[in-house]
Amino acid sequence: MIELRGLTKRYGKGNKTATALSDLNLSIQKGEIFGVIGHSGAGKSTLIRCINLLERPTEGEVWVDGVELTKLGKGRLQEKRRKIGMIFQHFNLLSSATVYDNIAFPLRLAGTPDSAVEEKVKDLLALVGLEGHRNKYPAQLSGGQKQRVGVARALANDPDVLLCDEATSALDPQTTDSILRLLLDINRQFNLTIVLITHEMHVIQRICDRVAVIHGGGIVEQGAVTEVFLKP
Ligand code: ADP
Ligand code: ADP
Repeated sequence: MIELRGLTKRYGKGNKTATALSDLNLSIQKGEIFGVIGHSGAGKSTLIRCINLLERPTEGEVWVDGVELTKLGKGRLQEKRRKIGMIFQHFNLLSSATVYDNIAFPLRLAGTPDSAVEEKVKDLLALVGLEGHRNKYPAQLSGGQKQRVGVARALANDPDVLLCDEATSALDPQTTDSILRLLLDINRQFNLTIVLITHEMHVIQRICDRVAVIHGGGIVEQGAVTEVFLKP
């Protein structure tokens, strides 16, 4: 489903470069919840942002569903990105738009007719449990509710993959648990592949099937969560 081959990312130019990822290889299967864990600065954020080319790798290939993204032209890449949803630590909602308009945004970008937008947003509001909140603004919502809007927006174009960039790191433990349960539900319901990065072990243990440990821009260990974390 997702294959990263020989992925290297260097930031900066000349003699002032920082290597964030170094010849990294990774395979993620369709329908699994795959976690990447590592300390701050290990390269997690760079890694996940390379999967939808929010960050362009310096070298290497990014395969999603049989297509190599780094070689696509602008139009084809845009199309492909619609099928890769993403949620963020700080939600990245439009503060001057209602819950409804935030969720409708990617649908409208994709040229969806208004009547279909209405129907889809209604479904998504129900899916994330925010039916009563469609006309509220982000500032009127709790952190957990904001992230539910983030999830709904990420799912608007029926993606094949959901990328989660420290998606629960700004939430309290109870809210974290409810968002993780939501992600698990969505994974089961749509056979959606989920990739998440986190620095928190309990997040991985709660919902991931497999995990990779990243350190210094490379993967130092990977496998089933039960194997990786039960080793002496
Ligand atoms: P993590 O998400 O695990 O904290 P990052 O991917 O953010 O790791 O960072 C990996 C390395 O790349 C770090 O050394 C970081 O300082 C560096 N880095 C990240 N983003 C940039 C950037 N935009 N410019 C320069 N260096 C960066
Ligand atoms: P079908 O292929 O018959 O549409 P699906 O199970 O793929 O069946 O979809 C059923 C419903 O779930 C549809 O309304 C579809 O838009 C929605 N759906 C499918 N995949 C996703 C997804 N990844 N995220 C959100 N909604 C989805």
